Amino acid sequence: MRLILLGPPGAGKGTQATRLVEKHGIPQLSTGDMLRAAVKAGTPVGLQAKAVMEAGGLVSDEIVVGIIADRIKEADAHKGFILDGFPRTVAQAEALDVMLADADMKLDAIVELKVDENALMARIEKRAADTVAAGGTVRADDNPDAFKKRLDAYRIQTAPVSGYYAGRGMLKIVDGMAPIDDVTRAIDAALA
Ligand code: ADP
Repeated sequence: MRLILLGPPGAGKGTQATRLVEKHGIPQLSTGDMLRAAVKAGTPVGLQAKAVMEAGGLVSDEIVVGIIADRIKEADAHKGFILDGFPRTVAQAEALDVMLADADMKLDAIVELKVDENALMARIEKRAADTVAAGGTVRADDNPDAFKKRLDAYRIQTAPVSGYYAGRGMLKIVDGMAPIDDVTRAIDAALA
C-alpha cells in the first residue's frame, strides 16, 4: 500500500503513521525526520536546511524531492510506504507523480487529518512539555514563532495539495480532532 498522510503540523500524522507502520508492515517516510537527521549529521543537505527549518519555513522542493526519490528506491519501500510530510507543495505532488510513474507505482490513498487550527498550538505546547518531562530535547521549531510560520506555510503552500488530490477523487478526509484510537479506526475504515 502506498499512502500519503496530509494535515497541518500537530495534526497527529506521526502518531497515526506509527500505527499504520505496525499494521501494514510498510515504512513511514517522514521528510521532517529525514531532514532532522541530515541536520544532526551535518550533511550538505542538512547544512542547507537547518536555518529554514528552525524558522518554520519550507525546505526547497528540489531538496525534498531528491530525498524522497532516493528513499522510495530502497528495498524496504518496495512493498509500499506511508508518506508523512511530503508532498507539501503542489510542485512536490507533481514531482511525486512523475517518480511513481517512472517506477511503475501507484498511490492507493491520500488521507487528510482535519484539525481545528486553534487546537494545534496547544498540541505543540503539550508535545514540547512531554518531551522535556521525558528528558528529551524539544524540536527547534516547536516554539510559538516558528509554529506560526509553519501554519502559514501549511495554509499557503500545503493546503492546495489537498485540492490536487481531491480533484482526482483520491482524497479521504478524517476528523483529526477525535480521540487517537477513533482517528486510527476512521483511517482504517477509509482505507478498507
Ligand atoms: P510538522 O508536520 O510537525 O510541521 P515535519 O517534521 O513534517 O513537521 O517537518 C519539519 C520541517 O521540515 C518543516 O517545517 C520544513 O521546514 C521541513 N520539511 C519537512 N518536509 C518538507 C517538505 N516536504 N517540503 C519542504 N520542507 C519540508
